[in-house]
Amino acid sequence: MADFFINGNWVGAKQGGTREIRCPANGSLVAEVAEGTREDTEAAIAAARNAFDNGPWPGTPAAERGDALLRAADLLVQRKDAFARAESLDTGKRLVESELDMDDITACFRYFGKLAGNDAGRVVDTGNPDAFSRIVYEPVGVCGLITPWNYPLLQTVWKVAPALAAGNTFVLKPSELTPHTSILLMRLLSDAGVPDGVANLVLGAGGEVGAPLSEHPDVDLVSFTGGLATGKVIAASAAATVKKVALELGGKNPNVVFADADFETAVDYAITAIFLHSGQVCSAGARLIVQEGIHDAFVDEIVRRAELIRLGGPFDPDAETGPLISAQHREKVEKYVATAIEEGAVLRTGGKRPEGERFAGGYYYLPTVLDGVRQGSTAVTDESFGPVLTVETFTDEDDAVRIANDTHYGLAGAVFTDDASRAQRVANRLRHGTIWINDFHPYLPQAEWGGFKQSGFGRELGPSGLAEYQEAKHIYQNLRPVPPKWFSGEQG
Ligand code: NAD
Repeated sequence: MADFFINGNWVGAKQGGTREIRCPANGSLVAEVAEGTREDTEAAIAAARNAFDNGPWPGTPAAERGDALLRAADLLVQRKDAFARAESLDTGKRLVESELDMDDITACFRYFGKLAGNDAGRVVDTGNPDAFSRIVYEPVGVCGLITPWNYPLLQTVWKVAPALAAGNTFVLKPSELTPHTSILLMRLLSDAGVPDGVANLVLGAGGEVGAPLSEHPDVDLVSFTGGLATGKVIAASAAATVKKVALELGGKNPNVVFADADFETAVDYAITAIFLHSGQVCSAGARLIVQEGIHDAFVDEIVRRAELIRLGGPFDPDAETGPLISAQHREKVEKYVATAIEEGAVLRTGGKRPEGERFAGGYYYLPTVLDGVRQGSTAVTDESFGPVLTVETFTDEDDAVRIANDTHYGLAGAVFTDDASRAQRVANRLRHGTIWINDFHPYLPQAEWGGFKQSGFGRELGPSGLAEYQEAKHIYQNLRPVPPKWFSGEQG
């Protein structure tokens, strides 16, 4: 089982480990893949180190590196069906969602492909005609890239594309639950002309295969997307070798709805914000914060709509959203809901698994609405990462902002109102990395993505997404060197 890509070769796990990948929609076996250990990661790090120190990639003109990314985009368009199918089998998400993900990934490759070519550094005005000074942007070195299971290839390419554009080499460790599109990606990058040793892949569990990426002295940067607890472990272990670290962690994202918002539009977005991909979205609108005058009508309509959502597997043409990723994750969501109810939340709908033969073997959970949650309760502070909407109520603008900011997370949020100046005021005051006004979920490859507070640090996408993978070097040249005579050169 040669699923690891190391130094341009397909190899198996050194100790022969394997893992079964099962589709979360019905538990069927998708495939068996190689399962690595620390030893495999160390081999991949050595390959990436050698390719960085001795290979052509870091010194390849940036525009040529960009061309490779543009070729990768073209190849992904050609191979879209195979990629989307693999993504849906691993994650259980609807095929149409995986297809949209592939379009977004293509756009990401194109964005960084073009940005690479424009990234020529800059000249600095020294104020001295006899001195010339410039800033050049160089790759950081060997990057360890660790990614989650909810948007497996999208989260991966948000790292891989800028890392390559900047001239780095990398070792990728995708989620052990969703490895298939990473395997396809390695073939694609190789076909696009990325040299051997630049892109390396190892599969396996976090503690075994992922941990060396934050610990190893030959890794210069670790970029991680995943949960808060894992992010803390990675940041602490990276500190021992003072690696650069970028963390894209969880969110507890407020969706603030004022009474003057268009009712039907705001309801429809609120439903999409939380129930898309069954809530397994880092920026899911999990906290509905609604103005008191419309609370009852708004929540009644959300409940009515939530009960109409059709669950099903990736290839079920009637399904509107799919299962949770694993039995373990569903148990976590169930525990979250039980705790919320114990702490006083009112269960308005859902809160259990759907019944019926067609859900057998899958990890489904009904869209759930919890009203009357109290600030400070677990339901408000913790991420469920499932199809669970909590409802809070506010009185006026200040109250809305206070409640929406009352979280240790700060990834994304939205405000729905018909008042354009209020929308801008509230957007300015929300302490979250992305704010949507009268919309939810859109993101653009050219716009930065990342968290405030404990949602992480560093940015993906946009110019800052490339800068994460660069070192700025200042080169200063004295054009008329003469002895500076700071020291007299004489005995005193
Ligand atoms: P996770 O933290 O359990 O795992 C993420 C990755 O880290 C996996 O590849 C895992 O194997 C690896 N890992 C686990 N322990 C490790 C260790 N000690 N050292 C190195 N690697 C280790 O997260 P998950 O359950 O896969 O993903 C869900 C989480 O990801 C949610 O909290 C979600 O909000 C977050 N997320 C954030 C963003 C964002 O852009 N901010 C995007 C997607 C998901």
